[in-house]
Amino acid sequence: MTLSEELQRIIVCPKCKGELTYWKEKNKLDCKDCQLYFRVEDDIPILFIEEAESY
Ligand SMILES: [Zn+2]
Repeated sequence: MTLSEELQRIIVCPKCKGELTYWKEKNKLDCKDCQLYFRVEDDIPILFIEEAESY
């Protein structure tokens, strides 16, 4: 399962509105500034701060 490049371009971190890096091996999006991971379910990023995992 991969996230489309188009989607990766438009999604931002819900906390800092910064860029997210897609981590293919774990199927997660990573905000380096907030040190948070956001999981992806069925190609849909779960971009809620409450749902994020911290490093
Ligand atoms: Zn952030």
